[in-house]
Amino acid sequence: MAKSKNGGSGGSKARKTRAFGAVKRMINPADPRLKANAEKAAKKIADEKAAAVKHVPQPSTSLFLSHNPSLGPPYRVLVDTNFINHSLQNKLELVQGMMDCLFAKCIPTITDCVMAELEKLGPKYRMALKIARDPRFERLPCSHQGNYADDCLVQRVTVSKCYVVATCDRDLRRRIRKVPGVPLMYIVSRRYQVERLPDGGAAN
Ligand code: ZN
Repeated sequence: MAKSKNGGSGGSKARKTRAFGAVKRMINPADPRLKANAEKAAKKIADEKAAAVKHVPQPSTSLFLSHNPSLGPPYRVLVDTNFINHSLQNKLELVQGMMDCLFAKCIPTITDCVMAELEKLGPKYRMALKIARDPRFERLPCSHQGNYADDCLVQRVTVSKCYVVATCDRDLRRRIRKVPGVPLMYIVSRRYQVERLPDGGAAN
């Protein structure tokens, strides 16, 4: 039995060689080099991820700081419902207040959605509605689906960078800040304040 196995032909020898090769190719899973390689690979992936995460806001940051050429006097200021309401509460006259803030001519601008929101608020907000119907206000017609004003404003400033957004809503401001090149206006201690206006508005 043993003899027949050992006394093999060349084929058996070749098989042995192949087997040796196979063994050589295999590496002990517990080999420390494997662990080192895996760690290296994991670190590389983590580095790439970190680089990617860092890289995403980079073009935005440069846009935040660079001059937005489509933005300039007269400034079109997109107002939302609560900006008008808070202005009323703080006895701020919108157009005058905006001009005092930006030192330039301002055109308050209102979208159909915001107008609809004001109309829905009822008689308690009729003064706000009256302000919004001021002929100095520019009306922007809406052709999008849905009537959520916040989405409407975010969508508009994402598409066209020619607006300042005026809102007292912190969540909306947070959303707008993610869009590069869009200055924000809101009320701080009974005055309008602008944020992120290139060429020095009252930068915050
Ligand atoms: Zn709209």
